[in-house]
Amino acid sequence: MNLTRFPRARFAHLPTPLEPAPRLGSVLGIDLWIKRDDCTGLAGGGNKTRKLEFLLGEALEAGADTLITQGAVQSNHVRQTAAAAARFGLACEIVLEDRTGNRSPDYVGSGNVLLDRLLGGSMRTVPADTDMNAAMAALAEQLRSEGKKPYIIPGGGSNSTGALGYVDCALELAHQANATGLKIDRLVTATGSAGTHAGLVAGFAVSGADIPVLGIGVRAPRARQEENVFKLAVETAARLGHENRVKREQVVADCDYVGAGYGLIDQGVIDALALAARTEGLLFDPVYTGKALKGLIALSKADAFKGETVVFLHTGGAQGLSGYHFELEAGL
Ligand SMILES: *Cc1c(COP(=O)(O)O)cnc(C)c1O
Repeated sequence: MNLTRFPRARFAHLPTPLEPAPRLGSVLGIDLWIKRDDCTGLAGGGNKTRKLEFLLGEALEAGADTLITQGAVQSNHVRQTAAAAARFGLACEIVLEDRTGNRSPDYVGSGNVLLDRLLGGSMRTVPADTDMNAAMAALAEQLRSEGKKPYIIPGGGSNSTGALGYVDCALELAHQANATGLKIDRLVTATGSAGTHAGLVAGFAVSGADIPVLGIGVRAPRARQEENVFKLAVETAARLGHENRVKREQVVADCDYVGAGYGLIDQGVIDALALAARTEGLLFDPVYTGKALKGLIALSKADAFKGETVVFLHTGGAQGLSGYHFELEAGL
C-alpha cells in the first residue's frame, strides 16, 4: 500500500522502536512488547505527531498561515500541534475545553499548558461541553476577516487525514514484526478521539496484516467509541480505495477502565504508572496510557491474553505528568 500520493510534511522520528518489556510482561504473565510512539520526536513526541505529518502536509499545500485546534486543558495533541506550527513558521490558535473542572494550579498551568505557552501557542479556555467545532469555525471566520489563512485541525487530529498517520504506523509495525520474526497476537492501544485506533484498524485491514487491535477507552462508553472508530476506519480505508475492507467486528473497544471520567485519575491509574516506571523505566501518562495500562493489567490478570504476544502502543503523554503533581504525589 502506498501513502506517497498524500501530501505529508516529514518531521517525525520514524520508525519508532519496538522493544520487549520482559519485567512488566512477567508481572502480567504475557509476552509484552512496547511500540514506542512516545519517541516520535516532536517537542516530547506522542501519537499526534504521526497524524500531524499528514495534516501539516494538507495545511501547507493549502497555503495556510495559521493552525487552529482544540483539546482538553492538558491536551498532548495541542502541545504537538503548537510545536508543528512553530516548526513551519505558522501561528497556532488554540481553544482549550475545561473538560475536567480541575482548577488546581498544576493542572491549569503546568505540564502541557506550560509547554504550549513555551511553543508560542495562543490559548483561550471555554467551559465544558462547549461545541468545540463551532468554536473553531467561529475563530476561523474571525481570522479570515483579518486576512489570515487558517487551517482547522479537529480535536486529537482525528479525521481521515490524521488517521493516515496510523495507517503508516500499522505498516511500520507489520514490517518490524516480519523483519524480526515476531508473531504479534494483539495490539493494545488507548482509544480517545479515535484516529489512532481507526488508522491502525484500516491499515491492518487494507494491508492484510491481520493483527487484532484492542482499544482501551478513556472517555466514551463502548458502543459510542466503537461506532466512532468504525466510521473513521471506513472513511480512512476509503481514502486508500478500499472502503469495504474494514469489518465492524474488527473494531473492538473495552471502555470499562475510564473510572470517574476523562482526565480524572484514580489509584488504579497511579499504581499502573508506578508499575511501568519501576519495572521498565517507562513513563506513562495519567489520562491515556496509564488508563490503558490499568486495563491491560486487569485483563491480563483475568487471563484475557493467555499465551499471547501483546504489543502495547505507547502513545506518549508523560509531558502532562506534572499537571497532576498533587494527585500523583498523594497516591505514590
Ligand atoms: C490523544 C492521545 C491518545 C488517544 O489517541 P486518539 O487518536 O485520540 O484516540 C492516546 N494517548 C495519548 C498520550 C494521547 O495524547
